[in-house]
Amino acid sequence: MQKDIATPVRTKEIMEKYGFSFKKSLGQNFLIDPNILRNITEYAGLTKETGVIEIGPGIGALTEHLARTAKKVVAYEIDQRLLPILADTLAPYDNVKIIHEDILKADIHQMIEKEFAEVKEIMVVANLPYYVTTPIILKLLEEKLPIRGIVVMLQKEVGDRIAAKPGTKEYGSLSIAIQYYTTAETVMIVPKSVFVPQPNVDSAVIRMLLRERPAVSVKDERFFFHITKMSFAQRRKTLMNNLTSGLPDGKKRKSDIVSALELAGIEPSRRGETLSMDEFAALSEALYPLFS
Ligand code: SAM
Repeated sequence: MQKDIATPVRTKEIMEKYGFSFKKSLGQNFLIDPNILRNITEYAGLTKETGVIEIGPGIGALTEHLARTAKKVVAYEIDQRLLPILADTLAPYDNVKIIHEDILKADIHQMIEKEFAEVKEIMVVANLPYYVTTPIILKLLEEKLPIRGIVVMLQKEVGDRIAAKPGTKEYGSLSIAIQYYTTAETVMIVPKSVFVPQPNVDSAVIRMLLRERPAVSVKDERFFFHITKMSFAQRRKTLMNNLTSGLPDGKKRKSDIVSALELAGIEPSRRGETLSMDEFAALSEALYPLFS
């Protein structure tokens, strides 16, 4: 077997061979530590029956580890300059398909139907481009793809917010949006030194496994997410203040808001960051008939 792509020496060789220069605007920080890649694939629990969707293969560092452990890998790469490089570095693997497309514009459902008819389960595994981490994860979840879960490297600070529990300063509408669909946990903290070029921030690997059904049951998901966002609009304000500013005619309809809070069993003086997901669901259900 050839030496891993993700070693400092081989990465440098590949970069020099193709005269490749990193584009910061595309979040290009490549991994150069095979141990980290082995850990990521282990956390994803891949088997020879798993289909993997990768976002941003770069020069193929993670892709080759995925190809060795999974049945098939489909990787979306936005940067055309990387296509000939990937064709070269991943030539030994016949179970990899590269799609030259912006993941945010991709029809992933259609791709799954076409490429993954023969796999038992699908996982998303990636070292994400940091400038679009959140839109990518939200797209994957909101489109309700038939996936078992998502294991991704991202900025530690974003990982902290995704996995945050109520009552912490990291807890917010992003924690709720993601924990609504998945069980989210940080499985690894990763130092800057395992990337070229080194990013400015520390990284983390987050594992998000899809729940069989959402964490809470609400009549209207969009309304629920809208209320959670509104409740965190100004973190230092009380829930009552945020709702009166955010809901239509909120200032005139204070009594409706108070009765909804009462029905949900929530003190108006509490701050959004203290509410559990169940409490947000109760609040959303109480407000829905009045404000939807
Ligand atoms: N997987 C490689 C690794 O671990 O070394 C590279 C990871 S690098 C952090 C992110 C990759 O995502 C880059 O290759 C970049 O070109 C690609 N990328 C950036 N934006 C993208 C998008 N919207 N859709 C698909 N790929 C994207």
